[in-house]
Amino acid sequence: MVKYSELEKHTDLIQICAKCGDCGSSGTQLTTAKRHVSEPCPVKNVLGFEAYDARGRILIMKRILENNFKIDKKFLDWAYTCTECGSCRETCLAIEGGIDTPLLVDALREDLVNNNYRLEKHEQILESIFEKNNPYNEPSEERFGFIENVEKYYQNENAECILYIGCTESYRQQNIALATIELLNHLEIEFLIVKDEPCCGSILKRYGYKNEFRSIAESNLKQLEEKNIKKVIFPCAGCYRTYKIDYEQYNNTDLEFYHLTEFLEDFFKENPYGFKSQTHKKISYHDPCHLGRHAGVYEAPRNLLRLIENTTFIELDASRNFSHCCGAGGGVKSSNPELAIDMAERRNYEALDKSVSIFVTACPFCERNLKDGIPEDAKEFKIVDIAEILSETIQKELSSEVQSFGVKSKICQQYMDYLGQYPEIFSDLVSGSDMDFAIYESFDDFEEEKIMDAFHVIRKNEGIEIIPGKADEADLELALSKEAIEKLIKTKTKSDYATLFGNFYNEPSFTEGWIDFLLHKRTKTLIDMGYGKFAETAGILEDEEDAL
Ligand code: SF4
Ligand code: SF4
Repeated sequence: MVKYSELEKHTDLIQICAKCGDCGSSGTQLTTAKRHVSEPCPVKNVLGFEAYDARGRILIMKRILENNFKIDKKFLDWAYTCTECGSCRETCLAIEGGIDTPLLVDALREDLVNNNYRLEKHEQILESIFEKNNPYNEPSEERFGFIENVEKYYQNENAECILYIGCTESYRQQNIALATIELLNHLEIEFLIVKDEPCCGSILKRYGYKNEFRSIAESNLKQLEEKNIKKVIFPCAGCYRTYKIDYEQYNNTDLEFYHLTEFLEDFFKENPYGFKSQTHKKISYHDPCHLGRHAGVYEAPRNLLRLIENTTFIELDASRNFSHCCGAGGGVKSSNPELAIDMAERRNYEALDKSVSIFVTACPFCERNLKDGIPEDAKEFKIVDIAEILSETIQKELSSEVQSFGVKSKICQQYMDYLGQYPEIFSDLVSGSDMDFAIYESFDDFEEEKIMDAFHVIRKNEGIEIIPGKADEADLELALSKEAIEKLIKTKTKSDYATLFGNFYNEPSFTEGWIDFLLHKRTKTLIDMGYGKFAETAGILEDEEDAL
């Protein structure tokens, strides 16, 4: 006889299920679900049978508590197909917050393990975690071999936080760990890497090894506490959820846990940085279940992605708490990899149907599985982690070079020096853009094309070059009165400069100053080159997208 002592603790929850089916398919007008989300369960969506959604699972659990029928291989396979994503909870109205099917699945798996129904693969993972400190059976001494000069991070006395890399980013998705390190270094954030960083044990919890998980949790918390650094940052959503949520009942420390996105959102509020994609991209965000539904972090990654200029951010129909799982969770990626990939492919199609070109996530499991599930014909479609896209698009400080030979007037030299001091005014432009600046003594001179002085600004990869005289082939020519320049060079920020610039263009005055310009290329081409953003900030162009 199998003892279901853990599952029995939740008999009330099992009895409450009204069998309405909103957790499996809420696509009809008759639905009682909180929101019109069709097909919330990613597993049922692929496998089709009702046994795989929450209603089916709860019914089966009810039967096994009543009849205690024989456990066979088929039953074990079924028990490990739930990704524990929690999507069904969101559409269930039976109780406040919905019936917690992942909690029931956890309890059932715990009973299976306690009754010695253990899968060979799970046992191997358990052994690997205890012997090699990772679930991938990789040598523990090679954990951080991919990080250049890693020793300096082991003993960083100035560290303000611990960067907890995790097993998946150490042995599989090293690209995310490297992008995170590059980003933190660029932001001059001092961090410590724990040389003998432990496995968080998340997979053991999902497989039902509660006792082993507890011993790992207690020892891990103790180990981190000994570092005497309160703040721990996780680029991995799985490790983060495990420390923040699953360890909570064992945690007596005052350690503070942050997902990388939460930490960066706070950091950029105090320290604004610019981000820009070189070519225009349509991006969307996939909510990892560990980070979203299980830990409630929805806004931080979105707020970070909205910082990236030259991108259009869109939401998928199934997003935030209603997001579809990528298919990797609950141990499904290791127990049933083909099922995991089928779920990922469906999720990718949701993004592809909206012509998304970059699908961003914030979890190495999601990134791996979504990448594995990219349809063959989606050649331009990319899955990236948020650390990667931020690290790639962050604007480095621009350099400037001002040449003075041949400058005729003092005001021209002052203007060139000013622009050399604030090269960020040109940060939106693509490398190679070239614009003329022509200065006029009066509006009559402008009409008679009598230029007082001129220079041009070339945008290079790393900064700008300011050269006296007009360019051979400028993208556009700005005409400015010297009165306008006298006021412009007193501004101290890019946005103040743009606002004043717009005022002189929109409300020109013979006495206060005026600005005009001549475009040498089509508006769309100029917008593609980055001129549109500045014009939009200056109020010259209403909306870059509309102008297209
Ligand atoms: S789990 Fe909730 S949504 Fe699903 S059948 Fe039961 S009551 Fe309905
Ligand atoms: S937790 Fe996710 S996979 Fe499991 S039954 Fe609910 S919706 Fe389906």
